[in-house]
Amino acid sequence: MKKELISVIVPCYNEAEALHYFFEELDRVIFDMPEYDFEAIYVDDGSKDATLEILRSRASVDKKTRYVSFSRNFGKEAGMLAGLRSAKGDYAVIMDADLQDPPSLLPQMMSILKEKKVDSVATRRGNRKGEPPIRSFFAKCFYGIVNKISKVKLVPGARDYRLMSRRMVDAVLSLCEYNRFSKGIFEWVGFKTEWISYQNIERVAGKTKWSFWGLFKYSLECIVAFSTAPLAISSLCGFMMFIVSIIGALAIVIRKIIDSSSAVGGWASTICVILFVGGLQLLCIGVLGQYLSKTYMETKRRPDYIIAETEKDEDN
Ligand code: UDP
Ligand code: MG
Repeated sequence: MKKELISVIVPCYNEAEALHYFFEELDRVIFDMPEYDFEAIYVDDGSKDATLEILRSRASVDKKTRYVSFSRNFGKEAGMLAGLRSAKGDYAVIMDADLQDPPSLLPQMMSILKEKKVDSVATRRGNRKGEPPIRSFFAKCFYGIVNKISKVKLVPGARDYRLMSRRMVDAVLSLCEYNRFSKGIFEWVGFKTEWISYQNIERVAGKTKWSFWGLFKYSLECIVAFSTAPLAISSLCGFMMFIVSIIGALAIVIRKIIDSSSAVGGWASTICVILFVGGLQLLCIGVLGQYLSKTYMETKRRPDYIIAETEKDEDN
């Protein structure tokens, strides 16, 4: 009987230092799972170090290795998408190259998927050890806000490390939006998912690619992609300010009628109100702008990434 194929998708950006460790670890896992066939798809996201050379030489000696190399850095989301698109497996699993998503969990994930008859086995971090407290704090706020204002529920600490069946992969690929927030997309497509949690591990080599600002922009991406609540909130604010101003105007008229001698005053408070309302308006326009800019990018229909080279180019 033909063995089922598992596609392992690994987005790599400047991972030259970590890749050797990753190859070793993945080989061990493949050896432990002889009942499956494997293909490893590495997506070189425009790395500036030796990542591409390492992938080329690995592909030339190992037929299970495939790679896709982008013309420049397009981000991890584009990398995951390219990997999923080129995966041929009956199952696909996405994991980081830095061993923070331990490949050794794969046999367990596969057996959960089979036993529980689910379409996806996802992982989450049980703790945030080794992370700056301020980052953990903002992460907590982010999950709190997103889960309040969007229909899609995100699991706190969820990683992108996830095993999926072919039908779930096809569902994920059927969403052709340009602004991709995969954690949300995985939830949005539905299907039964089992969660397993594991202790946070330090990356094996190299540095994290995420800056605080990068994470902040990524969070905004998620909110704009999966919720229109900020638009409703800004309309509500506008409406409330309108009601308050009507009440205020009525109060001034009534006071004038009752006590016509009352002096004009309160410049400071007037300025405060003007600044407050002005600020609120700018904020609401900003919110609107966020949605408009995303719509603008969607309408351009630009590709999510551009491929410069794959292992097939090397064969020729
Ligand atoms: N990555 C990528 N493109 C990028 C940034 C990151 O393909 O622009 C890959 C990176 O090589 C790694 C994974 O995404 O395999 C996760 O990145 P990182 O370890 O920096 O994130 P962290 O684990 O710190 O959240
Ligand atoms: Mg990492």
